[in-house]
Amino acid sequence: MKVVYRNCNLLDGTKNMKVKENVDILVEDNKIAKIGKVEEADKVVDLKGQYVIPGLINLHVHLPASGKVEKKPKDSKKLVKLITEHKAFNFLGIMLTKGNALTELKSGVTTLRSVGGVADFDSKVRDMINSGKIEGPRIFASNEALTVEHGHMEGTVARAYKTNKQFLEGLKERKAQNVDWIKIMITGGVLDCTVKGEPGEMRMTPEQVKCVCAEAHKLGFKVAAHVESPEGVKVAIENGVDTIEHGATMSKEVIETFKKKKGTIVATLSPAVPLAVIPEEESFLTDFGRYNSYVVMKNIIESAKQALVNGIKLGLGTDTGCPFTTQYNFYRELVWATNLLKISPRDALHLATLNNAEILGEEKHIGSIEVGKYADMVVLKENPLDNLNTIANPVMVIKDGKQVKNIKIKKDKYVEDHLNKLMDTDFEDDIKTYLATH
Ligand SMILES: [Zn+2]
Repeated sequence: MKVVYRNCNLLDGTKNMKVKENVDILVEDNKIAKIGKVEEADKVVDLKGQYVIPGLINLHVHLPASGKVEKKPKDSKKLVKLITEHKAFNFLGIMLTKGNALTELKSGVTTLRSVGGVADFDSKVRDMINSGKIEGPRIFASNEALTVEHGHMEGTVARAYKTNKQFLEGLKERKAQNVDWIKIMITGGVLDCTVKGEPGEMRMTPEQVKCVCAEAHKLGFKVAAHVESPEGVKVAIENGVDTIEHGATMSKEVIETFKKKKGTIVATLSPAVPLAVIPEEESFLTDFGRYNSYVVMKNIIESAKQALVNGIKLGLGTDTGCPFTTQYNFYRELVWATNLLKISPRDALHLATLNNAEILGEEKHIGSIEVGKYADMVVLKENPLDNLNTIANPVMVIKDGKQVKNIKIKKDKYVEDHLNKLMDTDFEDDIKTYLATH
């Protein structure tokens, strides 16, 4: 089957991409076969000068949760226990995972990396998508993250291990589940911090990190690690972590180690901004939770900027499932990247497409609109380099050469109303003032 998309204004995802005006894109089965003037095809879709970008790649997704804000958070541990321990309830977990993955796809995310899920639902849903049973994005799955007792996300999207021997058994179990990545939780986070001013308390020991990374690499996996403090970053990069999630301010020494080890930072601005900036009466955080959110926000911004200045690979992800971080707002991560990291919309779009594909090691197949790659494309009304917000409402999403049916998404009003107010400032003064006066 040959489909030609005519009259496209193409932004191909490459580093210094410029709009290629009025081109045709020929899709043969699931791949891009030609870009330029196309004479013949089985089907013609006239895009009438609308803009075409590569499918977006979200590097930090938790598939079980919605990101809605709850006044009284439900007992996630209890819920996960119920769903996983009783076979009859397994389908509930799978259903949630499927639904949230589909929402990502409808919002233009044609590829995602899951970095902490419930049981083995992520890889199961990935397999259903790959076999064509259900519609969804390309998934690179980690399944449950590995953590320690009382560690980050224990009992929800991570499982706790004590000894090195137990960690290695955990890795073997994930190998048997055929995961694509391993996720570990090195430090604590905003939602489980116990000390004011210290959101990223060390939880795993350097020795544990080293042991897990070495064995994961032997098994052929890369390791992503949740890290939210300068000490955590140091421990992660020195002991073999491949992608440091969230990040924190780095010393000169740590930056050098990063360069030597070719490490990557995946910034997640999407939960950092609202959890810090929105008053606790509306975010339902404790006041020191909010203070720590400011610390994390400052750290994430600083480490991402340090990465950019020092030529360290920087990826973007949203950390969906955190309050205010839904499965359909990846475009906001790009907007915040331009405002907070002071990069151009072009650079933000490149980070979220071909650059993120490179971090996955998948740049030969996805991330840009080039001949020979999978036809993962998003059609937009306006030029996103003039207005990134246009990505919020794609006209069409195409994955693997197939147009996604019915891309309308039911958005959460409370979340949207709050986030819409936060989209055009750099928060620099705000961060300084809050941390100085609380
Ligand atoms: Zn996360």
